[in-house]
Amino acid sequence: MTARIIDGKATALSLRQDVAKAVDTLKSGHGITPGLAVVLVGEDPASAVYVRNKHKQTLEAGMNSYEHRLDASTSQDDLLALVRKLNADPAVNGILVQLPLPDQIDSSAVIDTIDPAKDVDGFHVINAGRLATGLPALVPCTPVGCIILAKQVHADLSGLEAVVVGRSNIVGKPVAQLLLNKNCTVTIAHSRTKDLPGVCRRADILIAAVGRPEMVRGDWIKPGATVIDVGINRIPREDGKTRLVGDVAYEEAAEVAGAITPVPGGVGPMTIACLLRSTVEATCRQNGLEPLI
Ligand code: NDP
Repeated sequence: MTARIIDGKATALSLRQDVAKAVDTLKSGHGITPGLAVVLVGEDPASAVYVRNKHKQTLEAGMNSYEHRLDASTSQDDLLALVRKLNADPAVNGILVQLPLPDQIDSSAVIDTIDPAKDVDGFHVINAGRLATGLPALVPCTPVGCIILAKQVHADLSGLEAVVVGRSNIVGKPVAQLLLNKNCTVTIAHSRTKDLPGVCRRADILIAAVGRPEMVRGDWIKPGATVIDVGINRIPREDGKTRLVGDVAYEEAAEVAGAITPVPGGVGPMTIACLLRSTVEATCRQNGLEPLI
């Protein structure tokens, strides 16, 4: 079997177009332009690339983008003061503080300070709790992207066996919660799981969010399963350059799976598109409107 490739790039493009239409409606129908503030502390090169892409795609969707670049030596108090200022700013509907933060700053103190209504990353405990209890919530962007991609293969996820490898607060736990809310039977695997290959082989939908290059092998996959690979790992090439690979051994897995996301071009592009969608959703709720998207 050769798996169908789930095209994250095309799906993200189409989602960004839907976001742009919703932004048009907010502008023309309600006189509201959604605004997203992104805060970058320090010079981490990967974070700088993400922030640049977020800025560009926010503007392309017709929203306002406010970038705040702070020095790597910024104190926690100064960062919290900025977050409080953004909380109070009516032009800002969404706030994202790019992680990781420098060592002198406690990330959870920062996340706790973001107004949950503007927490477009969905990391605040209020949003995590709302997601866990089935209430409307701002949900972490990468997990939402995973579900949108899985739904391209399974219009109805109900009753499917889903296995999530990884239990981080950013990916593993929220994606498992979303799958549960879609009525999947969900197993969360992690570094202490016994017989991980056997657990993975149960999955109709296998989501790998581990951060270990090509750990999930072809023979861990149930024939015909849908494989969503969240991992982004940079590994050395023979010519001294590097290449990106996921947490799944793609070539082997594609021989067995029914559908699979590539790396790059799978889950990665969905994250920013879902962030833009979250910003529109937050804007709608802050203005007493039903989410347009
Ligand atoms: P974390 O490091 O926070 O979590 C990794 C998880 O994998 C942990 O729960 C850990 O288990 C588990 N794990 C580690 N080793 C093993 C193992 N040998 N067997 C089974 N489980 C294992 O990572 P993130 O969740 O933040 O990210 C995961 C991957 O997704 C990374 O490659 C990251 O780059 C990528 N990512 C991609 C995004 C995108 O936009 N596409 C966005 C966010 C992340 P335990 O809890 O027991 O330690």
